[in-house]
Amino acid sequence: MVHLASVPTDAARDAPLVSGVQNIDLAYEESDFTASVYGSRYASQDLPKHDMPDHEMPKEVAYRLIKDDLTLDGTPTLNLASFVTTYMEDEAEKLMVEGFSKNFIDYEEYPVSADIQNRCVSMIARLFNIPAHDPNTNAMGTSTIGSSEAIMLGVLAMKKRWQNARKAAGKPFDKPNIVMNSAVQVCWEKAARYFDVEEKYVYCTQDRYVIDPKEAVDLVDENTIGICAILGTTYTGEYEDIKGINDLLVEKNIDCPIHVDAASGGFVAPFVNPDLVWDFRLEKVVSINVSGHKYGLVYPGVGWVVWRDPEFLPKELIFNINYLGADQASFTLNFSRGASQVIGQYYQMIRLGKRGYRSIMTNLTRTADYLAKHLEALGFSVISQGGGKGLPLVAFKLGEGKHYDEFAVAHQLRERGWVVPAYTMAPHSEKMKLMRVVVREDFSRSRCDALITDIKFALESLDKLDEKRVEEHKEHIARQAIAKMKGINSHFSDKDDHSLQGKHDKTHPVC
Ligand SMILES: *Cc1c(COP(=O)(O)O)cnc(C)c1O
Repeated sequence: MVHLASVPTDAARDAPLVSGVQNIDLAYEESDFTASVYGSRYASQDLPKHDMPDHEMPKEVAYRLIKDDLTLDGTPTLNLASFVTTYMEDEAEKLMVEGFSKNFIDYEEYPVSADIQNRCVSMIARLFNIPAHDPNTNAMGTSTIGSSEAIMLGVLAMKKRWQNARKAAGKPFDKPNIVMNSAVQVCWEKAARYFDVEEKYVYCTQDRYVIDPKEAVDLVDENTIGICAILGTTYTGEYEDIKGINDLLVEKNIDCPIHVDAASGGFVAPFVNPDLVWDFRLEKVVSINVSGHKYGLVYPGVGWVVWRDPEFLPKELIFNINYLGADQASFTLNFSRGASQVIGQYYQMIRLGKRGYRSIMTNLTRTADYLAKHLEALGFSVISQGGGKGLPLVAFKLGEGKHYDEFAVAHQLRERGWVVPAYTMAPHSEKMKLMRVVVREDFSRSRCDALITDIKFALESLDKLDEKRVEEHKEHIARQAIAKMKGINSHFSDKDDHSLQGKHDKTHPVC
């Protein structure tokens, strides 16, 4: 809930950081002459936080002060928690900066940007094996802000299609449900709640963290709008058995579509594991989303969703907007946005080509295997699959008999600058604790070696602490977390009782 900010009252705003320092005199001689950023009065004042300042400040000062403030953020390259791209080539960055001032929705004014989106949709649909050789194929797709928006659109399309069929049959259409794994990314819970679709979960077990195809298909009833299957779960990176679900639906002659959440795997599996059948080669798969800003290798702000046929995209959801004179079909939750991300995606796809993506994804897979092997040698048990059978990530937990947990290890690593999250596994897996390293393009072998060295040190220091010290350490971490939360909205705590997270203590690794 970090992004929903609460507005402090005047009393909270003006309270000193430490009591007893109300009356110190920090008066500054008013002068417009500034010798340097740090000689200016701005450097002796707190950065404006609550009220917009009455006067302007010089641009160099504004730049420097904000830049300095941001140095306390983590370092993106050391953030191994996230799938989201932290490296692009200078040429790509240049194109993206040049695209900042273009409003992507303004198709009339920027027809080439719009066309570039269409080229990307076509390349991605073919990468997902849309039957383009069949003249009757009529696939369509769109760019989005990320997989979350793509999934919202996918859920809306499935819901509308189901409702239309129910209405046509004269049956009630007020209790739609969707079948999915309890390890879904939080955006599925969001989509279900925002669009009033009941969530029907296939729960993980102590040794299965992916959907069970039979259980999933058994949960389908006349109110099911679709099944979500994940190509690369956020917890362990495993690919769900999408073919298994498809074949069962076909065998039982059940009319229920599958949407594949390929947020992370969509740009990995086609290159590392091309024989894995998970995509439009399966007849029940009607729509697929992928995040351009994960293994699509673009900076944050782009996702994609493709539908097999207009049959699965009810036309009442499509708006034909006449914007500045041109008619355009549009299916999005947003309106204005920059064109940069779409341009960045096109750059990556034509610059790297299939061979480029394959080399990068194979290297990442090798690095993940290398890391997994070293972690095992350090006594961890590795839960992710390796060998290209899943995403290039390593999910692992401590071996038996340690007097500290994964959260303590994560904290030790944080002190060295690494962000390696610890989290509890999806419900019904006995609250198993895990850690996860996502291997991204800029995580080279030598950086991996540096991480292994630091993990080794972290274990050695924790081994030396007795239990009492570990407890104290835990309290210290908790206090720090509370201090960090200051200023963050506490009206809506994470423990709300209507979410899967609240009910089951599921915590999400960062995505
Ligand atoms: C990251 C992720 C999402 C959300 O995608 P964004 O692009 O961050 O909006 C959804 N599903 C899965 C499986 C993911 O890994």
